[in-house]
Amino acid sequence: MLTMLFVCVLLFFLGAAIGSFLNVVVYRTLSGESWKVGRSHCEHCNHTITWYENIPLLSFVMLGGRCSVCKKPIDITHPVVEVLMGSLFVWWYLVGSLFFQLSQNPFQVVQPLFWLCVGVVLCLIVVIDMQHYIIPDVLSALLLVLALCYRTALTAAGIMQPTDYIQLALAALVGSGFLFILWHATRGKGIGFGDVKLMVPLALLVGWPQVVALLFVAFVSGAVVGVLLMVCGKKTMKYAVPFGPFLIAGAVFSLLWGDTLLGWYLSQLGM
Ligand SMILES: [Zn+2]
Repeated sequence: MLTMLFVCVLLFFLGAAIGSFLNVVVYRTLSGESWKVGRSHCEHCNHTITWYENIPLLSFVMLGGRCSVCKKPIDITHPVVEVLMGSLFVWWYLVGSLFFQLSQNPFQVVQPLFWLCVGVVLCLIVVIDMQHYIIPDVLSALLLVLALCYRTALTAAGIMQPTDYIQLALAALVGSGFLFILWHATRGKGIGFGDVKLMVPLALLVGWPQVVALLFVAFVSGAVVGVLLMVCGKKTMKYAVPFGPFLIAGAVFSLLWGDTLLGWYLSQLGM
């Protein structure tokens, strides 16, 4: 029990550290800075961040969320991505690795690791889309490569048949096509084209008919949050809410409970 707790704490900080590093890489890439050279610095006063100010989460709490020199607030994205990634690692250790250990060797180890990588990329997309209102092509492309590797591996192991690719193509076409029509109809004000592109790897990961559950959950949760934000006066109709996080929430939901949701829905229809 104590060992388990220790591993959880360790994994949380490992995840948080990876999240912190990737966040800096993304931040520097987006702002056009070189990320190969130079240490992290405060974005307000350029104060170089020392190692003890750079401990994931702990430093943020100890510094009270402010730069030690200029006292201006530190970007909330840093602790958010650290908590998100730390939680992902702990969840994966406690539940996820078992959850994904359904298939036989040699996938018993590879498959849980694969989903952990997918989880990391998804976390990054959520944070970036929420903060910058964009979904970097490089992350969607990375996700696409991961999805194709996954499907190829399943085919090689005989778990998936070549004919199943027709269903996969259908999933990608329906998901992406639906978002494309929406993007076109709202002239890009409702959702972004990045969402249309992100939908392709997500559909390949969840498959058909789970992609329907994905869209359902994404739109319902997006609508609920959108209305809540409007009621709270945080957003008006003019400003779009980034849709990527909802698509990802839908994808996670349909991976975990998609079959249950579809089964319930079909039973309601009397099918
Ligand atoms: Zn500063």
